[in-house]
Amino acid sequence: MDKYGQKHDVIILGAGLIGLTQALALSAHGLKVAVIDRAKPDDLLESRYDGRVSAINSASWKMFEAIGLSDKLEPNGCPINQIVINDGLKPGKLNFRPDEDDPLGVMVENGVMRRILFEAAQADGKIDLHMPAMVSEYDRGEHLVSVLLDNDSNLSAPLLIAADGRGSAMREDAGISMARWQYEHSAIISTVAHEHPHSGTAYEIFYPAGPFAILPMRDDGQGRHRSAIVWTVAREDGPAYAKISERAFEAELTKKTGGFLGKMAMLSPRATYPLGFHHSSDLTANRMALIGDAGHGIHPIAGQGLNLGLRDVAALTECIVDGARTGLDLGDAQILARYDRWRSLDNLMVSAATDILTRLFGLPGETSSAIRRFGIGLIQRIPPLKAQFMAEARGESGDLPALLMGDLV
Ligand SMILES: Cc1cc2nc3c(=O)[nH]c(=O)nc-3n(C[C@H](O)[C@H](O)[C@H](O)COP(=O)(O)OP(=O)(O)OC[C@H]3O[C@@H](n4cnc5c(N)ncnc54)[C@H](O)[C@@H]3O)c2cc1C
Repeated sequence: MDKYGQKHDVIILGAGLIGLTQALALSAHGLKVAVIDRAKPDDLLESRYDGRVSAINSASWKMFEAIGLSDKLEPNGCPINQIVINDGLKPGKLNFRPDEDDPLGVMVENGVMRRILFEAAQADGKIDLHMPAMVSEYDRGEHLVSVLLDNDSNLSAPLLIAADGRGSAMREDAGISMARWQYEHSAIISTVAHEHPHSGTAYEIFYPAGPFAILPMRDDGQGRHRSAIVWTVAREDGPAYAKISERAFEAELTKKTGGFLGKMAMLSPRATYPLGFHHSSDLTANRMALIGDAGHGIHPIAGQGLNLGLRDVAALTECIVDGARTGLDLGDAQILARYDRWRSLDNLMVSAATDILTRLFGLPGETSSAIRRFGIGLIQRIPPLKAQFMAEARGESGDLPALLMGDLV
């Protein structure tokens, strides 16, 4: 081994859902990847680590098809056939239901997704997993990135991808500035069983205290109808809701849904997440690219955070693979500039739209509610407007990378 240690095409810091998908997407194009994460695999795969369920929109799903993972995800996922949006339980709802038999997305449990991605990466001869491991020293030099791990492994590659989540140390070290704020919200998440089937419908009900989402899941082994709830409450109320008895919580849930799914019973413990917004000024620095929550984080109101990160993965893969084909060094500034241009605007637009939506639906009072219901009615009645919103929900608007259209680059 020379002084640069084990050589790779790319080093990825972070084996979350985004880091692992990035590794598998690059490997599907023949690149050799090292992935580093401080977590022990057993901890990361432990069901209590992340009890959330994510809406994978149809464009992101096509990327999983292209890189050969959808067959494993599909038996564990629940198709979203319809999205229904309501201002409280008042009349006048907006519903997105595609004409063709083509779901808007698929709900997958984060724990299941983590396991499938991890096992695929573990079985992949072009991916080296370093877990648990911390970076002791690193250098993003003019010609190469070199990394020394706390287990004394020495790695090098022309490019470092930071997928190390919202508190990204790599982003901080690079001096990339951030816009960030906290919402006055916490999200309580749990899995519930309910009397009536959901028919693949995702409900988003907006209350002044915050949105309440009920997202469809597959029936369990005992045939119980299941959904995931993401209940946004005022931040100061979070601890109280986390403490009330299960029975009181279930009764409150049934009330929030107006009872249309029948009686509800909790199937998993409640977890509470404080919600914030962050957006980095740049997605790249010398020989480094940021992806996923390392670059941006949004309110889960529209279930788009993970999907935004998956768009980063698809775009960065295309920039790297195209660059390699034209003979560029994989950390070349031209590759990074293309990625930054491609993703910065889209990330900003989605983040800003999500932020506006959060604030708009949080305005109390009858007048604001009447205006919201007027807007909902307008979208419902104007087919081109509705089609545009549906394309956004599917993740199929804008300049799409090949992977999001289901093709390898
Ligand atoms: C309540 C809630 C509901 C949500 N629902 C949805 C949804 O329905 N749809 C959707 O699209 N999105 C959703 N999101 C957003 C989504 O969960 C995130 O955008 C996504 O999980 C981010 O993944 P990531 O891999 O970028 O980051 P992370 O999951 O934070 O992964 C970062 C990884 O890096 C590792 N790491 C960090 N620092 C270091 C270090 N110094 N050294 C080594 N390793 C390190 C960590 O151990 C971790 O494994 C939701 C978010 C919340 C809070």
